[in-house]
Amino acid sequence: MKKKEMVEREYCDECNKPEYIDKCLSCGIEHCYNCKKKVGKVYPYSLWAGGSREAYFCSRCIENPQSHAKELLTAYRQMQEMGNQYKAICADFDKRAEELEQRINELRKENKYIPKWQKE
Ligand SMILES: [Zn+2]
Ligand SMILES: [Zn+2]
Repeated sequence: MKKKEMVEREYCDECNKPEYIDKCLSCGIEHCYNCKKKVGKVYPYSLWAGGSREAYFCSRCIENPQSHAKELLTAYRQMQEMGNQYKAICADFDKRAEELEQRINELRKENKYIPKWQKE
């Protein structure tokens, strides 16, 4: 049996291709994965998790969000800023721990009171 089916497809508002799209949470414009990177930005929902609560905003709305989305965009931007700070702190912390590790190694080499069998 043959049947004709109507299939609804989503098209990207930027490149006009039938792709999986995301809506800008401010103006509702729909962009595909590739265009999202070019004409907008995806914001993280938390420091750890990605997924469905991530937010997409188009460049125009990032500059000038519609009033209903202003607070939401601000919150998402703050979350992203926290993520950046967190990464910077971690990198700094790692670096300091590594330096300390090296220092300990040097000190242990100089330490004459370590029994011989423990020396390398
Ligand atoms: Zn596109
Ligand atoms: Zn928008």
